Amino acid sequence: LLRDVDGPAVLIADELTASLAAQMDWSRVLGFATDAGGRTHHTAILARSLKVPAVVGLRELSGKVSPGTPVIIDGTTGTVTIDPASADIDAAQRRAHRRRPAPGAFDGHDAPPTTQTADGVAIRLEANLERLDDVPAVVEAGAEGIGLFRSEFLLAGQPVERLTEDQQTEIYRDLLTAVGARRVTVRTFDLDERPLARWAGRDRREQRAGRRGVRLGLAHPAVLRTQLRALLRAAPAGQLRVMFPFVTSVEEMRQAVAILDHEAHDLGRAGAVPVGAMVEVPSAALAADLLAREAAFFTVGTNDLIQYTLAVDRTDERLSDFYEPLHPAVLRLLRLVRRAAARRRIDASVCGEMASDPAMIALLIGLGFREFSMTPSAIPVARRLIRDVRASEARRTASAALRLATAAEIEQHLFDALAAGHRAPRA
Ligand code: PEP
Ligand code: MG
Repeated sequence: LLRDVDGPAVLIADELTASLAAQMDWSRVLGFATDAGGRTHHTAILARSLKVPAVVGLRELSGKVSPGTPVIIDGTTGTVTIDPASADIDAAQRRAHRRRPAPGAFDGHDAPPTTQTADGVAIRLEANLERLDDVPAVVEAGAEGIGLFRSEFLLAGQPVERLTEDQQTEIYRDLLTAVGARRVTVRTFDLDERPLARWAGRDRREQRAGRRGVRLGLAHPAVLRTQLRALLRAAPAGQLRVMFPFVTSVEEMRQAVAILDHEAHDLGRAGAVPVGAMVEVPSAALAADLLAREAAFFTVGTNDLIQYTLAVDRTDERLSDFYEPLHPAVLRLLRLVRRAAARRRIDASVCGEMASDPAMIALLIGLGFREFSMTPSAIPVARRLIRDVRASEARRTASAALRLATAAEIEQHLFDALAAGHRAPRA
């Protein structure tokens, strides 16, 4: 695994995706070069953020370099020399030595579980969790909590009625206990109709995009009620928050909260858990000021927010070029959500893949977000990067980005801002 590279090495790949980049041990990767590159500056932004030399867009490179071959990657000239002469290696080492950042920037697993930007802004880093087996990885990664527990994974394909209230109570209690004092945000089942034997109706072909999340839960309140009762019963075991997925309106939020309040009252647990809304549908983002009055917190799910804003099925690879986190419409929605939350003084975190992407973290901080929930293995890299970010600079960069008209211009701007930041003297 790339995470386990055992010595200083350079990475030559056809493509370096955000999820791969997030999981690599960058203390051991001296530089990288990729075949892909072209239009997007994404990889270049990564290299700048991580302060490693990189050359992208070399097309056939990965096929030409076999493992173990010495290479020189010169990010300044944009060249890769395969199997260089020893005089070239000496010269390159002297150049690299002059440019290398001060050591000690990377502290991996040993880092304390709090994170601040270079100018002292506290950032909370939590983990997304699907499988209970991954709880040790969450703790080891130094997560301050679980920002998104995708509870539907508990069903593992079985009909939802099979998981009783008592069984669920025990699972949530175990989870809260296993993470110690850390906060856990459980998302109620975010299902569409497929795994639900009885909900599916006669014709399984009739599965539609919008029949999912809290909307489906409200259509079948017994299932939602069972889960909420289990969560309320488990709540005293730790620091629990509950959130509803796929909220599209204030009405849905009110109805779901009413069910929770009713069960909480019944169990003598009124007010026991903060209840939040996932903001992952454009209607929720656009009406975030209204929704903020009904929710104790927001969690922005960028995966769905991007897919529904840009009309791109996130699972359709033919459309992957259109799936663009830096689309101006996406950034405007993120700003709206953040502002609405700030006005009501409620927390707003980002938990989609965008939060796991090292190239996006400074931008999200610049937009005002202070909490992120990501793949556990992405946390050490995020923590290291955040310590180099100046929130005040990030805010200026984000404001300027929001005035640009295209994703390409925004990418270029983020890239240039990073380059300028690296040249500027640090106090
Ligand atoms: C999201 O939509 O961004 C999200 C985190 O939820 P999921 O990926 O589970 O739909
Ligand atoms: Mg989602």
